[in-house]
Amino acid sequence: MSPAKQGPPEKALLRHQDIARELEEHAYRYYVLDQPSVSDADYDAMMRELSELEDKWPELRTPDSPTQKVNFGGFDTRFEPVAHLERLLSLDNVFDDGEFAAWAERAQREVPVDAWLCELKIDGLAIDLVYEDGRLVRAATRGDGVTGEDVTNNVRTLQQVPARLGKGAPRLLEVRGEIFRPTQEFADLNARLVENEQKPFANPRNAAAGSLRVKDPRVTASRPLHVTLHGLGAREGFDPPTQSGAYEALAELGLPVSTRYEVFETTKGVQGFVAHYGEHRHDVEHEIDGVVIKVDRIDLQRRLGATSKAPRWAVAWKYPPEEAMTKLRNIFVSVGRTGRATPFAQLEPVHVGGVTVSTATLHNQDEVRRKGVLIGDTVVVRRAGDVIPEVVGPVVDLRDGSETEFVMPDRCPACKTPLQRAREGDVDLRCPNQRSCPAQLRERIFGMCSRVALDIEGLGWKAAASLVDEGVVSDEGDVLLLDEDALARSSFYTNKDGTLSAAARQLLVSLEEAKHRPLWRFIVALSIRHVGAPTARDLAREFRSLDRIENASVAELAAVEGVGPVVGQAIHDWFAVDWHRDIVAKWRRAGAVLADQSSEDGPRPLEGVSVVITGTLQRWSRDSASEAVQERGGKVVGSVSKKTSFVVVGADPGASKYDKAVALGVPMLDDAGFGVLLEQGPEAASAAATAPS
Ligand code: NAD
Repeated sequence: MSPAKQGPPEKALLRHQDIARELEEHAYRYYVLDQPSVSDADYDAMMRELSELEDKWPELRTPDSPTQKVNFGGFDTRFEPVAHLERLLSLDNVFDDGEFAAWAERAQREVPVDAWLCELKIDGLAIDLVYEDGRLVRAATRGDGVTGEDVTNNVRTLQQVPARLGKGAPRLLEVRGEIFRPTQEFADLNARLVENEQKPFANPRNAAAGSLRVKDPRVTASRPLHVTLHGLGAREGFDPPTQSGAYEALAELGLPVSTRYEVFETTKGVQGFVAHYGEHRHDVEHEIDGVVIKVDRIDLQRRLGATSKAPRWAVAWKYPPEEAMTKLRNIFVSVGRTGRATPFAQLEPVHVGGVTVSTATLHNQDEVRRKGVLIGDTVVVRRAGDVIPEVVGPVVDLRDGSETEFVMPDRCPACKTPLQRAREGDVDLRCPNQRSCPAQLRERIFGMCSRVALDIEGLGWKAAASLVDEGVVSDEGDVLLLDEDALARSSFYTNKDGTLSAAARQLLVSLEEAKHRPLWRFIVALSIRHVGAPTARDLAREFRSLDRIENASVAELAAVEGVGPVVGQAIHDWFAVDWHRDIVAKWRRAGAVLADQSSEDGPRPLEGVSVVITGTLQRWSRDSASEAVQERGGKVVGSVSKKTSFVVVGADPGASKYDKAVALGVPMLDDAGFGVLLEQGPEAASAAATAPS
């Protein structure tokens, strides 16, 4: 007998009931209170489990199941209910190429789709606006899709929503869109709330919802909200043939529509759009959680119709979630390379953005206060791309009273020196014990050995920490002096029987190589404030030896292109400190060559040539390309100007550099053209260059 005839077993029934009830509770907290207590990812997982149970036992899929309804969280009694003129639906989701292809095929089987409109899925809250004879008569939240909450007075305070439409307004126009708060402004709002002893919001979406759905419109007005329209409801006298045409017509009437939508004839185009914004998700001023794909022709949309929950002519391609909720166990303070003391959260490990996160930065003590997080809070943690995970905000409703406030220590946790502010009014506290604070020294040594500096293989962060903690090195100078005897005192580089490990032997080889690196790498390794690789290259090109840099005046340093007075002063000040000069002396004693021989003596075919490199080259890394230009006497600069001789353009070039090169008419070289420049000089390269179009 089939299970369907038998009915679901009691276990499945109870599980279904439990999840449905829990989802209802979460939906209430999310849609009505604007204070969710689980992450979207957890909520979505519960919804998927419910849906899978219903696939197995179809009789569980009743019309009142959360899988079948737009909103089942209930209504807020603070607002008047209003009926939408047309239903306002949710969207079905797809998560990958395969699911999207299946969805698109289903649509194409039913109607001849010739164009797909792609736009950003804004992570905000849905709004419905009704205009009669060009006047805004009502604004309502989505509610259950049939009935929403009347928020007209609040919406009237939004600058982007016109009270009257422009010329040619139709008799009736119902439009839908998203209300959101730009990511940047979210932090400021939370800070203000905490200052006024009000509850901070866990993320920008809740902040937008919580700011719109308040009884007093003055509160909405004081928290600027933005709107982007993305849909049509009922209308009379407004009949655009396509969704994209509708957006143009809405913009003409003065309504805010997205400027980022695109229309594609093929699903391949759609995939490209999704991939592009997957990479540039954070270049947009508001949060996006995916891309919405719509059949562009409205007659085809009508033919495809909708289910009880979502249209069949549109779908949301969701990006992987970047936020999760977890417990903030404690707040510690770490001290970095420049002595800055940074509070960070120790978290209950949580999976987010593809990795397990157990720590997250809190930037500085003011930031902890601005965010309003307490030790013991449940917090929203965010990991976006490769960015360091951060705590977004607390889930205030889950507090049980045991949470405690973080107090910034007044001494350095690594060396116990009292922390100071570098200048009056600085937010950051620093440990002034630059020379021997083990935390700072460890970070400087790690930086000195990294790939952008001396590139010493076999000396990473753990090794640096161990060499410092065991007193094997007392400054950066000692690193190049490391020999077998010194390494024999390090537990990191010795075997259990006390003999030197293979890693130690490898390190000794790397150290010898490092002593012959180009000058600019040594300059980076000094950890001088403001001096990274580009500045170090400028200095090396001009002075060609560390001696000359040490003896240069501030004016001479500042005169170097790319340096300037602030950096010039920082370099000068650095060399004025005794123990800094000791580092250089130790490097010399170790046999390091602190001058660029080749550029001084060899031929300089690129003398006077300045090059900007953008994008990824196939045959050169960024460093090796720059070195190749400099060895030949040329300059590599960071931005395009009239003085630039060539712009070398690799794959995925920076848009601003490329556009500027075009605007100024600077010749551009591809990989092959760059090879010509290096091998045959500027004249041959000019012939190989593409004239900017
Ligand atoms: P949804 O957010 O997945 O998608 C539908 C909505 O997207 C539409 O109603 C519309 O307002 C919006 N949208 C944004 N940009 C759009 C565009 N360009 N075109 C068309 N629509 C656009 O669905 P939903 O029903 O609003 O909410 C469900 C989601 O909300 C869940 O997947 C979950 O992530 C979250 N949620 C979380 C909790 C929680 O407790 N954490 C509770 C309830 C819901």
